[in-house]
Amino acid sequence: MTISETVCRGSILDQNPAITIPENQKYDLVCTGCKTAYFNDRLKCDSDNGLLRTNYRNKKLELKDAPGIGKFHDWLPVNELITTDSGPVTYRSTELAQYLGLKNLFIGFNGYWPERGANIKTCSFKELEAFPTLSKFKNSGKSLVLASAGNTARAFAHVSAMTGVNVYIVVPGSGISRMWLPEEPTDSIHFIQMGNKCDYTDSIHLAERLSAAPGMQAEGGARNVARRDGMGTVMLDASIFMKRIPDHYFQAIGSGTGGIAAWEAALRLLEDGRFGTALPQLHLSQNLPFVPMYNAWEAGRRDIIKDIDMPEPKKLIHEMYADILSNREPPYSVPGGVYDALCATNGSMYAISNDAAKNGVTLFEDLEGIDIFPPAGVAVASLIEAVDAGKVKKDDYIVLNITGGGVKRVEQDHKLYKIEPSAYAENANVPLEEII
Ligand SMILES: *Cc1c(COP(=O)(O)O)cnc(C)c1O
Repeated sequence: MTISETVCRGSILDQNPAITIPENQKYDLVCTGCKTAYFNDRLKCDSDNGLLRTNYRNKKLELKDAPGIGKFHDWLPVNELITTDSGPVTYRSTELAQYLGLKNLFIGFNGYWPERGANIKTCSFKELEAFPTLSKFKNSGKSLVLASAGNTARAFAHVSAMTGVNVYIVVPGSGISRMWLPEEPTDSIHFIQMGNKCDYTDSIHLAERLSAAPGMQAEGGARNVARRDGMGTVMLDASIFMKRIPDHYFQAIGSGTGGIAAWEAALRLLEDGRFGTALPQLHLSQNLPFVPMYNAWEAGRRDIIKDIDMPEPKKLIHEMYADILSNREPPYSVPGGVYDALCATNGSMYAISNDAAKNGVTLFEDLEGIDIFPPAGVAVASLIEAVDAGKVKKDDYIVLNITGGGVKRVEQDHKLYKIEPSAYAENANVPLEEII
């Protein structure tokens, strides 16, 4: 393994090149590595490894008249307006803010909490990825393949049930308990359960094989701009609510896709010009003992070195409280990835213990009055750490992304249905005939 680059070079990536988008198109895709522009949808650059980023024709965001994520249509890579009431919600915290001595703490709540206008019935911000992705994919005539540790699976299954788009979802053994839906599962949902020894990364590998079969299409993970721009609406919603780009953005990460998305959304807001002139600092957190990105970042490395940053990954992942934050191959090193996002925003990483994360969950529920998921507890704990370390000042504008919550609340309003597996895979190398 080589250490290719240790110097931050964020500033080069901050500029979208001046290119002309064809008249009939809403956006083009620009490689964050080599700056090549592409006018057709694709997941990869022909010449390098860089993430492709959407460059929208409309530089000023005009909100559309839609109840949920569809408001942000201008900056979503879809042509049809998304009309769901599911979308990001921002509110100003009073209780947690007071507890932490913060004047301008804003919560990006991504879950179910109708009293606050939050209608994400599968209870995580993965729904913000699922709606744009499936909207874009709807007319392809293919089936979409993805891997998930649970929340993504639920979100994509839910949108599949609503739209009829076929999805094949590969879930590791540990994700089974998270496989429920707020409606009756439909035949468009194909759920492949993996063996108990398999983790999220095994399910990614099986999904990769499956997506190469005829009629199948890989969803793309962090490379899918519909996913990133969907998650980026949390930053957009918060900035519109606050009438400015925040000084700080806190989020727990497993892949870091949400962190990249927040950075990209902030770049668009800078270009828009009405929301300020500085990027927010990203504060991204992982859950001990599995913290590969934290380790690489603290060592000043663009590369994750497996033996140093995540020895015995399966053992470490098994010990995590927020085990869905466990991607072994995150988009950290790639151009336009997490490392670049942290460099460009003068960001920080946090390694949060299980106890601190559990405390974050309890504290948030006690003070703000809604149950949240373990990863969101990791983010709360990182905010506490930042306050204690003086990394944020009391007047700073802070967005805390509560990436999932409200399961207890959704159970009061909706009957939840279990999704039954349509196939079982002992490992990532099973013959595909067994699972299609
Ligand atoms: C997926 C997920 C995360 C991590 O998101 P990434 O930015 O993709 O790493 C955090 N919290 C919850 C609830 C999630 O489902």
